[in-house]
Amino acid sequence: MNTQKQFQILADLHTHTVASTHAYSTVQEMAAAAAQTGVKLLGITDHGPGSPDSPHLWHFHNYKILPEEISGVKMLYGVEANITDEFGTLDMDAHELSFCQWVIASYHTACVTFPRTPELVSQGYRMLCEHPLVDVIGHPTTDMFPFDYEPVLRRIKESGKLVELNESSLQWKKGALQNAKTVYAICKKYGIPIVVSTDAHYAGLVGKTPLAEQLLRELDFPRNLIYSLDPAHIIEIAEERHGKRQKP
Ligand SMILES: [Zn+2]
Ligand SMILES: [Zn+2]
Repeated sequence: MNTQKQFQILADLHTHTVASTHAYSTVQEMAAAAAQTGVKLLGITDHGPGSPDSPHLWHFHNYKILPEEISGVKMLYGVEANITDEFGTLDMDAHELSFCQWVIASYHTACVTFPRTPELVSQGYRMLCEHPLVDVIGHPTTDMFPFDYEPVLRRIKESGKLVELNESSLQWKKGALQNAKTVYAICKKYGIPIVVSTDAHYAGLVGKTPLAEQLLRELDFPRNLIYSLDPAHIIEIAEERHGKRQKP
């Protein structure tokens, strides 16, 4: 077996388009890049309205017009919603999220004002686990949002949500690589499923996860816990949680 390709992701479920103004490619360009890198299922997840660079809510409302497949790549149209406080509150309500087929929930420093203590961040994640429409806890590895890893990750597993391993964070966020070694070792220990995502803000980065792959190899992380290797399973999860998509 080619170990270099052991963790090549087939579902890249966290990407941004020009609709988030600090990203630089269109839906079409992202899908074409996904096809080139061998990604079979692409998540388009621009920022929720709490981010300074987010699209208008109509961006999400109008997803119905986009094709289910572009350049041979199956598409999931969703959002990276912002967790806005220590109570796990999102910046989109259930009606707004109903237009999305995939919901990542992430903390970002620009979108919160509470003191980011491990106690309050942990509480926020725990309360978020009660949210019926959230699929993934986004990039839980930066120094900016410390939390009590073991109990919170176990709670995420119980709730049926997935933990994200985010390539962009590993590359750019302070402390992320070191924190990730702890977070994903705990995921391995307790059998907590993860998704590996690029968080690509440019088409050239879609489907490329060298730092995540290296980390997973170092941890000898079990393949059956990496749901990004199984697009059909992701589609099942998405349809179970969000229903079948309205046809274009
Ligand atoms: Zn993010
Ligand atoms: Zn993102």
